[in-house]
Amino acid sequence: MVISKKKSMNKMNRRTLLKYAGTGMVAGAFASSIGKVMASTLPLTGETSVGRGFTGKIPFSLIVDDGSPVDPLFYELPGYETPFLVPAKFTRRVADTFNKFDLHGKFTIIPMPSCLGRIDQSLKRVPQDHLLEFLKLMRERVAPRFDITPEFLTHLSSYDLKTGNYRRHMYEDTWITQASKEEIVEYFSLAFQILRNVGIESTGITSPWDSGIDVEDKYAQALADAQWNIFKRKLTWYFLYAASDTEKPYQCNVKYKNPERGQVVVSVPANAGDIFWSMDLADKKDRPKFIKDGIDRLVSPDGKTGRIRQLIDSGFPVVIVTHWQSLYTQGTELGLEGLTVLAERIQKVFGSGFEWVKCSEMARRYAESQA
Ligand SMILES: [Zn+2]
Repeated sequence: MVISKKKSMNKMNRRTLLKYAGTGMVAGAFASSIGKVMASTLPLTGETSVGRGFTGKIPFSLIVDDGSPVDPLFYELPGYETPFLVPAKFTRRVADTFNKFDLHGKFTIIPMPSCLGRIDQSLKRVPQDHLLEFLKLMRERVAPRFDITPEFLTHLSSYDLKTGNYRRHMYEDTWITQASKEEIVEYFSLAFQILRNVGIESTGITSPWDSGIDVEDKYAQALADAQWNIFKRKLTWYFLYAASDTEKPYQCNVKYKNPERGQVVVSVPANAGDIFWSMDLADKKDRPKFIKDGIDRLVSPDGKTGRIRQLIDSGFPVVIVTHWQSLYTQGTELGLEGLTVLAERIQKVFGSGFEWVKCSEMARRYAESQA
């Protein structure tokens, strides 16, 4: 399939600017003052909702978006230089890192990555044993600690449920804006069914880019119906809102309730952007420093300052987002190295005062606090 470069670049810029990025480039005065401002206007952690659960520890979550047996930017950004297949050796190393630090959160598996086909069938240009190995690692090594969600179906062109073709000129964010609720239910149900077919039970969904932000009521209701259809799940959640470490953080939000089913839909935001997304830097030599600076902004080396401390003090959920392709960093694995440093520092600084939890657990604690 062919995607025009302009369109892809627009999408990427939009994603980068609106949803995740910008961390290093725009860090400024706001970053240092935000903690104080938030702390002075908002209740303290102990009084707020997601603050603490029954363990008394502060919950942290790590979100990894765009997971796939291929590097999704290979097609999304024509000309982007990366090994097309993400080797199983790397996927295993990521799982080892999750294991070592007992990281929990959410990991995306794109059901139809890069419009190459369905992961429960086969993907064009991807050897079947490579696909199966990826899915096995996800089931056995990642799913025990991370909610696995789809990120709609393709994270690219929308899929036409009637014809089985990809709509090259309508990306999924444009699609959901104009789609009927019934069509969205069907679309999400297919995403959940594909993951279920490979042995994965999704607790919620992730938006590609900021898809659905303009039609969030319809989105949340469609998610509720799709989760009910496939799983009869009473608590479900979605990841749509993301603030960088210099932006005003988001709270969790009960977006929709269905009293007849006893069903609740919670929005779980990320409040620290992808500090490992170093691929846009003009000079590759700048990458390690960019990543190191990002880590310092989240938790300073002495642990006294940083975004995470600010989020805790102001009662916002400590949810950090990164991407499969940032961890991979075009085959250099620089992002994964950075994640290791960050996880180590968090452990050292916050010790027994925090715990990594799945995003569904974040959602559950918030919903209970609001009930
Ligand atoms: Zn994504």
